[in-house]
Amino acid sequence: VTPLQMRKALGRFASGVTIVTTAESEDDASVHGMTANAFTSVSLDPPLVLISIANRAKMNERINKTGKYGVSILATDQEPLSLHFAGAAHQPDLVRFVWRREVPLLEGALVHLACSVDASYPAGDHMLHVGRVEQLWYDDGHPLVFYTGSFRSLELLRDDPWGF
Ligand code: FAD
Ligand code: NAD
Repeated sequence: VTPLQMRKALGRFASGVTIVTTAESEDDASVHGMTANAFTSVSLDPPLVLISIANRAKMNERINKTGKYGVSILATDQEPLSLHFAGAAHQPDLVRFVWRREVPLLEGALVHLACSVDASYPAGDHMLHVGRVEQLWYDDGHPLVFYTGSFRSLELLRDDPWGF
């Protein structure tokens, strides 16, 4: 299995888009952020999530230092931020942080998770950082979707299919 085959196949697993952030002090100037779609919910009790960060990304060293990170789940209208934090388009004027538990998060996101690092594991060319959710906040809205390398919005097929 080649890396290109992996990208072609896994790109067909539609995901949301997050910005992962961390900072050594509660100060906008010390924040580092990056776009990540390798994010998943892991456990409800205790509340755990997982992010997978490429070994070459600067973010790993930052998270190892701070021991905490934020996850902002983006809304459709935040696509420019996902490009900015992937280093693909420079749009610093759009970046606004809010702070929760000394963790920076992106203003206007659908969800904010402030996490402390529970454990980090090496996995091939990535590091897995399991985070304990210390505080969260969410709002209604339209999620940004990533599929086969492009950004999309979500289409509703049927209301309430499980009868919840
Ligand atoms: P850099 O490349 O230096 O920083 C990222 C960008 O954010 C730079 O342009 C920088 O100027 C800007 N930035 C950082 N901090 C601030 C700040 N405080 N204020 C304003 N701007 C700032 N990679 C993974 O490892 N895991 C993933 O799950 C993942 N998912 C991705 C999903 C999508 C949809 C995309 C487009 C990319 C994804 N990437 C993922 C790739 C990753 O986003 C890039 O490789 C990113 O550039 C790595 O960031 P870095 O930590 O090396 O820092
Ligand atoms: P793409 O076609 O590269 O991505 C499709 C899917 O492949 C992604 O959703 C992810 O599941 C997987 N993937 C892509 N690059 C990967 C990597 N380096 N490690 C592990 N899985 C990876 O989409 P694109 O629009 O060409 O992506 C833009 C840039 O963002 C590329 O440089 C890509 O490598 C990077 N990216 C990295 C990850 C990641 O590290 N987990 C995820 C998505 C995108």
